[in-house]
Amino acid sequence: AIPLVVAINTSLAARNGMLIRDRIAMEQARELDTIIFDKTGTLTEGEQGVVDIETVEGVTEEEALGLAAAVEADSEHMIAEAIREAANERDVASPRAADFEAIKGRGVWARVDGQSVHVGGPNLLSTLESEVPDQLRTFAERSGENARTVVYLIRDGELVAAFALADVIREESYHVVDALHELGIEVAMLTGDSEDVAHAVADELGIDTVFAEVLPEDKDEKVQELQERGDFVAMVGDGVNDAPALTRADIGIAIGSGTDVAVQSADIILVQNNPTDVVRLVKLSKASYRKMR
Ligand code: ADP
Ligand code: MG
Repeated sequence: AIPLVVAINTSLAARNGMLIRDRIAMEQARELDTIIFDKTGTLTEGEQGVVDIETVEGVTEEEALGLAAAVEADSEHMIAEAIREAANERDVASPRAADFEAIKGRGVWARVDGQSVHVGGPNLLSTLESEVPDQLRTFAERSGENARTVVYLIRDGELVAAFALADVIREESYHVVDALHELGIEVAMLTGDSEDVAHAVADELGIDTVFAEVLPEDKDEKVQELQERGDFVAMVGDGVNDAPALTRADIGIAIGSGTDVAVQSADIILVQNNPTDVVRLVKLSKASYRKMR
C-alpha cells in the first residue's frame, strides 16, 4: 500500500524543489536525530571578500596581494576568487606563477620568480611548520573572533602576510536551526575553516556540535562519529569535498547547484540553494508518515 503515498510524496517534494533520488531516504527523514551542515556557502553566503591585510616588515600590502593572486590564478576556490578580485580592485600587478598545485583542504602552491609560494589556512600551516610572527598571530586571533576566515602567504617557508576574508551568515540559517530544534533534531556543523570562525558562527546560530579544521578526507569520519553514538544522521553539503560525507550519512542531501560529485553522492537534492528546504523536507516526511497510518 506504500507506493501511492510515496508517489504523492515525491511529486509534492518535486513541486517544492526537492529531487528524491532515494525514496526510502525521504520516508526516513522523519526519524533524523542530527543534521550536519557544511558551513561555507550553506549556512553562510560564502561570498568572501578580502576585508583586511597584515604584512610583515619590508612587505607592502600590494606586494602581498599581487603574489597571493599569482599563486591563486589557477584555483576555483571561493578564497582564490576573492583574492584575485581584491588584487584587481587595487590594480595590483601580479607576477607570473608556474607549476600550480592545489593542496586539498589546505591551500595552494606555485613557483613565482624562482620562489616557492604557498597560500592557505591554518590546516596548511600545520604541515609547513613555519613560525607565525606575533603580529600575524594577533591579526589572525582578532579576525577569528570576528568570524573572518584567515589565509596566510608563505614565501620560501616564511610567513609574510595574512588576509582576512569576510563571510556573512545567511538570514535563513537562524530560523533553520530553531525550527530543527523544535522538531527535536540536533544541529551540527562541519568545516575546513578555523576553530575560531566555526565557533563564532555556531554560537551565533545556536548550533549544538562543531567540527572545525577538518580535512576533506576526514569529513566522513565526523559523520560516522555521530552515527556511532547511535544517531540517525543527515549531511547537507554542496562541494566536491562533501561527497564522502554525503555518502556516509544515513541521508545525504545536496543543496543548491552543487557540484556533480555532490549531487551523485546524495539521496535528496534541494534544487534551490536555501537551507530552509531542509526543514520543509523533514516536515513533509513527518506529514506523509502520519497519512500512512
Ligand atoms: P570548507 O570545508 O569550508 O568547504 P575547504 O575544505 O574547501 O573548506 O577548505 C578548507 C580550508 O583550506 C579553507 O578554509 C582554507 O583555509 C584552505 N584553502 C582551501 N583552498 C584554498 C585556496 N585556494 N586558497 C587559500 N586557502 C585555501
Ligand atoms: Mg564547502
